[in-house]
Amino acid sequence: MKLIFATGNEHKIKEVSRSLSKEIELLGLSDVGIDEEIPEDHESLEDNALQKARYVFGKTGEDCFADDTGLEVEILQGEPGVYSARYAGPQKKAEDNIHKLLENLQDLDNRKARFRTVIALIFKGKEYLFEGICNGVITTQPKGHKGFGYDPVFMPNGFRKTFGEMSLKDKNLVSHRARAVAKLSLFLKEQL
Ligand code: IMP
Repeated sequence: MKLIFATGNEHKIKEVSRSLSKEIELLGLSDVGIDEEIPEDHESLEDNALQKARYVFGKTGEDCFADDTGLEVEILQGEPGVYSARYAGPQKKAEDNIHKLLENLQDLDNRKARFRTVIALIFKGKEYLFEGICNGVITTQPKGHKGFGYDPVFMPNGFRKTFGEMSLKDKNLVSHRARAVAKLSLFLKEQL
């Protein structure tokens, strides 16, 4: 079956397609001729994911899903959360975001954080939500060059490496997105 993932991020398409059943052909936005940036202007991950999925469904009428992820830092009351991409400004630059985060956490002992992903699926015209969480800590310095976003400063619990130092295979064992995708995948298997 064909399924549209409402993203133009090749990293994510690669990450997610590894976790879904082989019977699912995952298409990105460019594969279905959607080139414009899809609005995501709500105040929660759930609302943003639904907004993006509804946009794609409105354009294509096909089964589709969208995700929205936030890095939630305990001592910052859940910030940057839904604003993770543009934490340091509208340029959405990962290095700037990391810099701002490390500055805000300077000299603080509580470095607990979690990534939370929400997936909104529209399947046969009905809407479903799936959540995945990965708990960890924010390191004091960036380490590793793999992955994207906050990966170099996020160390998942149970590991001594940041996501930036981990292979995609290892990241997929514990990541927030992989956990949400596992729930999506299970749901889709039940429907096939
Ligand atoms: P999105 O909703 O998946 O686009 O995520 C919003 C922002 O959260 C991204 O721009 C990244 O800064 C950050 N982010 C999301 N997923 C990850 C991840 O797996 N690793 C590191 N940063 C991430």
